[in-house]
Amino acid sequence: MKTAKAIRQEFLDFFESKGHQIVASAPVVNQNDPTLMFINSGMAQFKDYFLGNQESPSPRIADTQKCLRVSGKHNDLEDVGRDSYHQTLFEMLGNWSFGDYFKQEAIDWAWELLTERYGIDPERLYITVFAGDEADNLPADEEAEKMWEKWVPKDRILRFDRKDNFWEMGDQGPCGPCAEIHIDLRSEEERAAKDGKELVNMDDPMVIEIWNLVFMQFNRMADGKLVPLKNKHIDTGMGLERLCMVLQNKTSNYTTDLFSPIIEKIEALSGFEYKDDYSPKALSDIAMRVIADHVRAVALVIADGQLPSNTGAGYVVRRVLRRAVRYYFSFLNRQDPMIHLLVPVVSEMFKEVFPELAAQEDFICKMVKSEEEAFLRTLANGLKRIEQLEVKNNELPGETAFELFDTFGFPIDLSLLIAKEKGWTVDLKGFEAALAEQKKRSQADAAKDVADWVILEEGQTDFVGYEKDSCQSRLLKYRKVVVKKKTQYQLVLEQTPFYPEGGGQVGDTGLLFFGEEKIPVINTLKENDLIISITTKLPEQLDQVVRAEINAPKRRLTENNHSATHLLHAALRQVLGHHVQQKGSLVNADLLRFDFSHFEKMTAEQVVEVERLVNKKIRENISLKEQRDLPIEQAKEEGAMMLFGEKYSDQVRVITFDDSYSKELCGGCHVSATGKIGLFKIREESSVAAGVRRIVALTADVAEEYLRKESQELAEVKSRFNNPKKLLTVIDKLLEDQKALQKELEQLLLQQAQAEKADLLAQAQEIGDVQLVSGQLSVSDKDAIKQICQEIGQQLPRAVVALAAADGAKASLTISMSRELAQEKGWNAGKWIKQAAKHIKGGGGGQPFFATAGGKNPAGIPAALAEVKSLVEDN
Ligand code: ATP
Ligand code: MG
Repeated sequence: MKTAKAIRQEFLDFFESKGHQIVASAPVVNQNDPTLMFINSGMAQFKDYFLGNQESPSPRIADTQKCLRVSGKHNDLEDVGRDSYHQTLFEMLGNWSFGDYFKQEAIDWAWELLTERYGIDPERLYITVFAGDEADNLPADEEAEKMWEKWVPKDRILRFDRKDNFWEMGDQGPCGPCAEIHIDLRSEEERAAKDGKELVNMDDPMVIEIWNLVFMQFNRMADGKLVPLKNKHIDTGMGLERLCMVLQNKTSNYTTDLFSPIIEKIEALSGFEYKDDYSPKALSDIAMRVIADHVRAVALVIADGQLPSNTGAGYVVRRVLRRAVRYYFSFLNRQDPMIHLLVPVVSEMFKEVFPELAAQEDFICKMVKSEEEAFLRTLANGLKRIEQLEVKNNELPGETAFELFDTFGFPIDLSLLIAKEKGWTVDLKGFEAALAEQKKRSQADAAKDVADWVILEEGQTDFVGYEKDSCQSRLLKYRKVVVKKKTQYQLVLEQTPFYPEGGGQVGDTGLLFFGEEKIPVINTLKENDLIISITTKLPEQLDQVVRAEINAPKRRLTENNHSATHLLHAALRQVLGHHVQQKGSLVNADLLRFDFSHFEKMTAEQVVEVERLVNKKIRENISLKEQRDLPIEQAKEEGAMMLFGEKYSDQVRVITFDDSYSKELCGGCHVSATGKIGLFKIREESSVAAGVRRIVALTADVAEEYLRKESQELAEVKSRFNNPKKLLTVIDKLLEDQKALQKELEQLLLQQAQAEKADLLAQAQEIGDVQLVSGQLSVSDKDAIKQICQEIGQQLPRAVVALAAADGAKASLTISMSRELAQEKGWNAGKWIKQAAKHIKGGGGGQPFFATAGGKNPAGIPAALAEVKSLVEDN
């Protein structure tokens, strides 16, 4: 049997032999494109080449790309587990031509690879081509049809409309007609009984698409119109998992060697046997597939630097992980974390193609485990909530089902399951309505209207901000964007000193001078390689020469913090060890925040040592060494630090402060020599997530100001103590004295309470066959009152005790009796207290035998106590 590894390699070797450059997969988490959260197809990382924003390093490229389809235009999440051929994360093998070869070669090579190299039976293959579209005014792709006829009989070439044969990455962007290759995997008998062409594009798991050849020709604009691209390109994508299914003679992705080791591990951990059953009743099989799929997605996404969180891409990871937990929790009878135990299996499988996973295995396991634990706790709380529910007419209200979904992460099917066990129904309509309402709200929040670019001049942007704070420039293009009803303009300049937010460093702000007109830039962002400055106003004369000027003082402070971040990163690795990896960073004018992998809290000594090392490097006044366009291989050899999940091109920029100390790949802005940083002070060391620590630090003036305030405060403390020689000894003494006084006070209060208790007992009133012990205490301590209640209860088992206390403007009330008495009489202290508490302008509650209330009207205490008395008398 051919292994997945061999199949993948054969693909790459084949296209290398056809003159393609083989490149690495881009990180699956998309860093610099706000229109796409995760890479969802092989072409996504090359979008700029298609659009002409950037030139491809090579006209022919091939690779295997990690793709994730759980959000946006391409979302296969709900199919995963149910069918045999859709994953959330999968590898897409692809070959590209950027303005080089077109349809003919793409078709011929695809055929050669599948039938001659991989040896697939040509009789089993079907081709689909674009049938044309009236709305877009596009004819059928007869050209591709003709080309295929060279290889495939006419009756196996089928036409399909835009839904199947017009490929688009998203609502906007590059697109074009495509030809797909489908395969019929059924047995000889089945094929004889029914022609395979009737099953193409019919969601039959045995007749599936394996390869899509897209002929990129258009750009879809915001208004839906198609604009032809300058050049024609080829973009193909073939799912490795499906190809392995074919070449390994399987009928499911899950029985190929890309999944079977994971499934085996799940079998061992759960005790369930995997039968590859696809009926909706095969719940444990579905669960195993979901888990096997999701662990790959979660592990690889975290390896690419995206930690689970409550927003954006982090929330998507969290949701996928929780979905997997829910499946083992519900269908594999497992209440302990399990996904993290599968991570090593995945890491072993991918150690050659995606080494970033194995390199961070421990970290990822820890992170996944703690996420699982947290969610299992949430599930347990949700179950408890369900236990406490009082359900009318045996129907769980839609609102409640939604609350369970929204706050406890209980998907509706889990609520349905639990409800069924309890003999309840669920108001599904109400649930759907609440869900739709929430969706509407969040859509309104995120509403963003992006117009097409208005192009004034063709050209590429040039960043000059490493050398200059200002420059003369021209406006190349602009567009209007409405975010949450606020209108903004995005401007692209030919030359720009504005650094776009990225690599943790905030975007520059500043001014644009169009002649006399002055327009503030409120932020600068990046979309792939495009630098976009944001304004709230459009210049009146767009074609004027513009002077662009950044806010230089702000940038200088930011540079201090960025360079200090590098010095800190190196210091952490020296002091804590080489497992320290950057996991997040923020650099602005006020502070630097650095998140890194490390499993325990740093000791006070370690913090001091790191701080000392960084300050030493500052005083050494090391000059910045900046290397641009260094081949990435050379940078690696020189030991430059790289980040997982960052997409690097072949030529990189390396920032060095002392060759033997700090060397990092970085696109940010730095000081010319470390002395400029002046001073480095760690303000905080804390935990962000399992295995991730955070340091917040200050530099230069801000650090100085911070220290000045701290020492001023200390001076004030000293002066309050009359400037003693040994301040700490004085404080320790004070704390000790205070403790002793506290103890003494408690003793006195207890004595006093005992005395008051004796008085109360002496005044106990007989009401029917019970006694009422009631009165106001001078002690207001809750525990003391509770203790008195208990003691009276022991002495007088048939007593109702009602005690009030006042503490300044606050009043409290406690009612207690024995459980037996409450039961016998059907009395409920919890209900009584609500009634009595009205007199003290407050509220409370509790159980039938013990309840407390607080209020803000001590004057009402006598009335409250009288109320209790009448309750005892009346009941
Ligand atoms: P399908 O209709 O089967 O969902 P698709 O039209 O969405 O496929 P494309 O977007 O054309 O697929 O992607 C190209 C190739 O990637 C497909 O031919 C298939 O081999 C593979 N592929 C697509 N989606 C998935 C997925 N969710 N899991 C595994 N492989 C996939
Ligand atoms: Mg699909």
